[in-house]
Formats: sequence, C-alpha cells, structure tokens
Amino acid sequence: ATFGTLSDRLADTFKNLRNKGKLSPADVDGTVREIRRALLDADVAFDVVKAFTTTVRERALGDEVSKALNPAQQVVQIVNEELVEILGGTQRRLEFSKNPPTVIMLAGLQGAGKTTLAGKLAKWLAKDGHTPLLVAADLQRPNAVQQLQVVGEQAGAAVFAPEPGNGVGDPVKVAKQAIKFARDKVYDTVIVDTAGRLGVDADLMKQASNIRKAVDPDEVLFVIDAMIGQDAVATAKAFQEGVDFTGVVLSKLDGDARGGAALSVASVTGRPIMFASTGESLDDFEPFHPDRMASRILDLGDILSLIEQAQQAFDEDEAMAVAQKIATDSFTLDDFLKQMQQLRKMGSIKGMLGMLPGAKGMREQLENFDEREIVRTEAIIQSMTPQERELPKLLNGSRRLRIAKGCGMTVTDVNQLVQRFEQAAKMMKTVAKGGVPQVPGMGPI
Ligand code: GDP
Repeated sequence: ATFGTLSDRLADTFKNLRNKGKLSPADVDGTVREIRRALLDADVAFDVVKAFTTTVRERALGDEVSKALNPAQQVVQIVNEELVEILGGTQRRLEFSKNPPTVIMLAGLQGAGKTTLAGKLAKWLAKDGHTPLLVAADLQRPNAVQQLQVVGEQAGAAVFAPEPGNGVGDPVKVAKQAIKFARDKVYDTVIVDTAGRLGVDADLMKQASNIRKAVDPDEVLFVIDAMIGQDAVATAKAFQEGVDFTGVVLSKLDGDARGGAALSVASVTGRPIMFASTGESLDDFEPFHPDRMASRILDLGDILSLIEQAQQAFDEDEAMAVAQKIATDSFTLDDFLKQMQQLRKMGSIKGMLGMLPGAKGMREQLENFDEREIVRTEAIIQSMTPQERELPKLLNGSRRLRIAKGCGMTVTDVNQLVQRFEQAAKMMKTVAKGGVPQVPGMGPI
C-alpha cells in the first residue's frame, strides 16, 4: 500500500536507535541521513525533504532528546510531530456557505479521479443530511456527462445536465444554470465537476478559471492522483497559479504509490489536504487527518479511523436491532452470521490491520483469514435448523455431528464456531453494559 516502503524504512531506522541510551551527534546525523534517503526514495519533493530533515536534526540535537528518559522514542515523537506539520497540521473541514447552495468546484488533470470524487463527496454529504446536486461541467470528454450520471445514481444524488441546445458545450453557462437550478429546487450543495486534460495546458486552466469566476465557489478542491509521484509538485503549482484552490484531495491512496505526492503537496502549496480517496468504490473515501496519517506512516496506529470505518459500515437500524437482542439476551446465530457479513463490508482485514499499531507482521498471516472464515461460518450455520439458530443451547453432541456431516466439516469446526459465538455474545454484553471488551492476547481494545 501507499507508504508501505516508507513506513518499513522508517521503522528500520528507528529500530537501530532503540538499543542506544544516550544519542551521540553521530547517531542523530546517521538517523537523519536515513530519514532523508527514505523520503527522497518515496518521491517526496526535495525542498520538502530538506526543510523536514533540517528541523528534525535541530530538534533531535537539542534538550528535548538529551534530557528524555527514552531518547530514541523522543526522536520518533519529533518525526511524528514534524510529519503532522508537513501534512498540514490540523484537519480542515469543508466550509459551508451561510447562503446556500454551497458550491464546491473540482479541478485536476484527466484521470485524477474528479468524477469519482464527485460521487464520493455527494454520498458522504447526503449521509450527513445534505442535499447535493452534481453538475457536469466537463463537456470535453464525450462520456463525461453519462459517467457523472452513473456516479450520481450510485450515490443517490441528483445530476444536473444541460438541456440539449441550451448551453451545451459551454461549461461556464452550464455551471451557472446549475446553481440557479439548485437554488430554485433547494439543493444545499452543488458539486461542479470540471474537465481535465492529460497534461497541464493553458486552455484547461483558462476554462477552469472562467468557471471559478462565474460560479464563485466556496471551495475549490484540487484532486491529485497520489500515483503521479515527482510530477505532483509541478502539477499542483500549475493549478495553484492557473485556478488556485482552497483544498487538496489525494486520490488513489490505495495504490502502490510511494506516497511522495501526499507528503509534498500541502507544504508546497500551503493548502490543506482535506480528503483522501482510497479505492474505486464510493465508500472508499475519508476526511484527511494529518495526525492520523502521520501515525499510520510511522506505524503508530490509527485506531480512530478504524472505529469510524466500523461505524460507517454498520447499518444503524440493524445495529439497534442487535443491541436490543443483546439487552434481552436473545442474540442468535443468525445475528452472529449477519455481523460477520457486516464485518466483511468494512473492507479487507488487511487494510484494517494497517491502521493498528505495530500490526505489520500480522498482515501476511491474516491475508485471507476473513473470507474463508466467513464462508465456513456460513456453511455451518446454514446446516442448522431455524430452531437451533435461535436457541444454540439445543446444540447437543448428536446435533453437532449431524450439522458437521451436513456441511462437510468436522465436529471440532462446529464446536469452535459455537464457542466463538458464545464469546462474541459475551463480549457484546460487556460492551452493552459499558465495559471494555478484551481481545485474547491483546488486552483491552
Ligand atoms: P477524472 O478524469 O478526474 O474525472 O477521473 P475519474 O473519476 O474518471 O477516475 C479515473 C479512474 O481512476 C477511474 O477508473 C476511477 O475508477 C479510478 N479511481 C478514482 N479514484 C480512485 C481511487 O481512489 N483509487 C483507485 N484505485 N482508483 C480510483
């Protein structure tokens, strides 16, 4: 994943420090040199690397490290703080207009992920109670309007497309019409998707800049593909000069990019990274938190994002129903199966593990864990009668044997499932009572 190599190299660098008590200036210099190389190899812009390592070196040679109980840990802390800084410091949220509709314009190269982002943003805003309208002001690409319509349908959001013969071919006109339409029909946010080109060119900038002038957006989001590596800085600067923007969206952070774009763009442009796009599905999208991202890069864990993803994936009505069942002690194996299936919706276990501190080593082991586990669980539960699913207490030896035969597994498999179910039911009861659940071998989560 993005930052994988960078994370590993930084971890190695810090490992070398760990066994040292006091750090000599030579230790600090060696560490800083390794950090510099790791960042440059990750395609982080040279100027950014230089400023970063200069600051880290100065701080690491200062009092806060020499007086620290654990100097190595203090260096990691400094790197963490400085990473947060270059990623933009604090999180910046969308600004909503006091005089709706709030207009959000998207700009970026072709293929950067603007249209996909339009859908992601719309879905995310709708979940939050907003009423977004998508506008296709990308009239260059023949399929752009249809693509936005498809995305809008997936997101459950309305799409404004020009009427034939009225403003077709003129994105500025279309964008203006759309805002009037939104005001009349009481949509509270308008997301304007603009045309991109494969490379930066004057016409593209002129058009984007004209749209900006015409619609006076509250936010202009510059969408950049994290995979473009070294080109990120030049592209971002060109868009800043040509159109200017209020925030950055990093797309394709799920890819195998080295992450340099992410680490360069905020500090080079002085504009905050506001969102991250992490896949092709409309749910692969999250607000960007510099501190959490830094923690992920340094493998310090990102528990908060993990919890938020879990909350997003769980259907609220279903969660309420389950809570009620737990409270009344009527949680069944069918509910258990449903929960496992919901967990699957949370995305790959692998991705989730990336957010847990120090979880890198576990990742490989668990690569295919979830899928097979769910398939097996499904098979076993489907071999049970409805009564058995409702009342697991009925499952005596002969019933377990029949179930095992029915699904082609062993009695031990069935026993294990029942045991896991009982553990889950117990754990959820603890949570329901406000306690902290224990994961075996991990302590409280
Ligand atoms: P546009 O030309 O800027 O509108 O870009 P699109 O939204 O059409 O995206 C270009 C391609 O990138 C499409 O195939 C998208 O499915 C894909 N894409 C967009 N965002 C992401 C992302 O976060 N991760 C991945 N893996 N693919 C993405």
